[in-house]
Amino acid sequence: VTSLPFAAAQPRAGVPAARHAERLAAVRARAAEQGLDAVLVGVGADLRYLAGYDALPLERLTLLIVPVAARPVLLAPRLEAAGAGGAPAVASGEIRLETWEETDDPLLRVRDFLGDHAGRLAVSDRLAASFVLGLQAVLPGASWSLAAAVVGPLRAVKDADEIALLERAAHAADQVIHEVVCGRLVGRTEADVAREVRDRLVAWGHDRADFAIVGSGPNSASPHHAASDRVIRPGEPIVLDIGGPMSGYGSDITRTVWVTGGDPTRGPDRGFLRLYGVLRAAQAEATHAIWPGVPAERIDLVAREIISAAGYGASFIHRTGHGIGLDEHEPPYIVAGNAEPLLAGMAFSVEPGIYLEGRYGARIEDIVVCSEDGPMVLNEAPRDLLVVTG
Ligand code: ZN
Ligand code: ZN
Ligand code: ZN
Repeated sequence: VTSLPFAAAQPRAGVPAARHAERLAAVRARAAEQGLDAVLVGVGADLRYLAGYDALPLERLTLLIVPVAARPVLLAPRLEAAGAGGAPAVASGEIRLETWEETDDPLLRVRDFLGDHAGRLAVSDRLAASFVLGLQAVLPGASWSLAAAVVGPLRAVKDADEIALLERAAHAADQVIHEVVCGRLVGRTEADVAREVRDRLVAWGHDRADFAIVGSGPNSASPHHAASDRVIRPGEPIVLDIGGPMSGYGSDITRTVWVTGGDPTRGPDRGFLRLYGVLRAAQAEATHAIWPGVPAERIDLVAREIISAAGYGASFIHRTGHGIGLDEHEPPYIVAGNAEPLLAGMAFSVEPGIYLEGRYGARIEDIVVCSEDGPMVLNEAPRDLLVVTG
């Protein structure tokens, strides 16, 4: 990477503290509606969403306690006090910070905080089993459910700040795709190209690279192929599926490129051009179908019908998409059986693929926001089949 990416020169983007107050109020209102006494949120995306706290997943308990009828408390190990206290919703006073000492039993502290409000409790999905079982032991009279029913629907609808962060991450990933497909590919291993992808994602401002799928030749027919030591050759496709979080919000883009090695006789064959044309139409039509009120499964169906009508139905072996935000995969899932209507503000991938096992395959993936006015595609990298020297 020779040039200084624009992203690195920008100030760190984020979510204003006021947003956390709104989210906490919404969680408490929803929890009250559901008859809960409190929501217990462990380390993970839910904690980051509500408190702005990107905590380490430690064996020591960090727990945000959101009672319906009292001010939220963040219970954290004493040695994490600086980080926890710097979280926007703690610094603003919205959440009270309580620390526990090495010799304290944090589970008993949770029981004490809850007091009389420990009848019906919801725990965040990613709270470790060690903590959940410990809480159940000290609160034997409580009933338990998953906080996803409370927090999930809130997180699925992104506010303007979150959409801006998703767009920023998408544009950075667009740039990485552009740089990688313009560079040398033939003669390199998939693993080597994957390393370049990871380096460039970070250079363009990502917190880290979470995945860098580089599937060349027959490996392009394996949707979750991990980059291998296979050497890329002229006259084959490469599926690049890359992404990771940037200021916490994920990017996730797939583009398929064909490398000729500079040999004009090594261009894409008729079979691949047909396959790609069908895929391109399916991805475009599925994207166009995105509108508030449309059932999520309808988007999957639109893509699947086009691919099936062309005879590739058995070769489209995964759902069409997944929600994206603080988690790389989160609701809404764009899959048959999910009749939930899309809502304005939902952000998710549209990523049909066609995979001819042992031969080759292709996938096209964009992150799309369902807006009041229909689809708002965040990725800008070209979707037509890129034929490059490589
Ligand atoms: Zn862009
Ligand atoms: Zn992807
Ligand atoms: Zn994806």
